[in-house]
Amino acid sequence: MSSVAKKLDEISPGVWAYTQLPGSWGWSNAGLIADGGESLLVDTLFDLKATAGMLESMRKATAAADRIETVVNTHGNGDHCYGNGLVVGAEIIGTPGCVDDLAESPPGQNRLFLTAAHAASGLGSLGRGLGRALRKVGLPQLEWLVDAAPLGLEAFSDFDFPWGKPVLPTRTFKGSLTLHVGSKRVEIVEAGPAHTRGDAYIYVPDDRVVFTGDLLFKDAHPIVWRGPVANWIAAIQKLLSLDVETVVPGHGPITDKSGLEQTLSYLELLTSEAWRRYDAGMPVEDAIDDIVLDNYRGWLDAERVYVNIRTLYRDFSGDSTVPHVLELFAGMSRYKYARTAVTTTLC
Ligand SMILES: [Zn+2]
Repeated sequence: MSSVAKKLDEISPGVWAYTQLPGSWGWSNAGLIADGGESLLVDTLFDLKATAGMLESMRKATAAADRIETVVNTHGNGDHCYGNGLVVGAEIIGTPGCVDDLAESPPGQNRLFLTAAHAASGLGSLGRGLGRALRKVGLPQLEWLVDAAPLGLEAFSDFDFPWGKPVLPTRTFKGSLTLHVGSKRVEIVEAGPAHTRGDAYIYVPDDRVVFTGDLLFKDAHPIVWRGPVANWIAAIQKLLSLDVETVVPGHGPITDKSGLEQTLSYLELLTSEAWRRYDAGMPVEDAIDDIVLDNYRGWLDAERVYVNIRTLYRDFSGDSTVPHVLELFAGMSRYKYARTAVTTTLC
């Protein structure tokens, strides 16, 4: 079990942030906005146990959490949605892209992956050899699974994924949507595709608070599953233009605009580094090995650089095909553990 610090903070009167720090894979943040006996939940968590614990702490903080009328899913990744079923009777709001992503990724898929990853790990070098042979005849999936297993098991073994379908948003919107929770105005703004197909942020102007969803990972590498990266940069510029004092990221500690500025610089730097290599004809795998981000050595989950550079190369070439998620996890796992092995050897 990873060491995770879970905490509910009232960041403005009637506005709470729930954080699970440090916020690596699957350990997401959420929020509650309450006023006049009404309440709106920003995101649920990766499994039912984690979500139940969060809802319990919210009920202790305010009676308005006894019956939550509205849930907003910031996007369709399971770590922000798989607990939806516990908010009984609530209207659940998301973008169309959020619904599509969530519908295509039921929690049982993660459960199956963990079972298969355990089995693949047990095969050792036999699995690796078999995977290589199958790839040569056009069946790469076993090799992806064998390669993805170390990272997948480390990242997701702490969660309990049920079989069955996810509970999807019941109301979708495009562009933006304004709601009222008691007398608090809440603006939900679609800013994707970027991290996923349908990212949105939730802005509470009177409290100068914004919940960014995974448009911000604080002190961690962002992961650009979908892109284009330029769209994520535009989304951060939009967030920076808001009148906000408190920024609640999708993962990591509560911050202010400086957290947004750091991720903006990261994405701009990565874009220029990748472009230089793409423009010179360097293959993407070589670019991934070649790019060193010295200023971000302290950030969590550096293996996401693998996905981010692949997305940038797709952006540059105009290729809209998104690789299979298992292939991407395989690449990240090789990035993380192969590099560790090299470092160990050199020491
Ligand atoms: Zn997340």
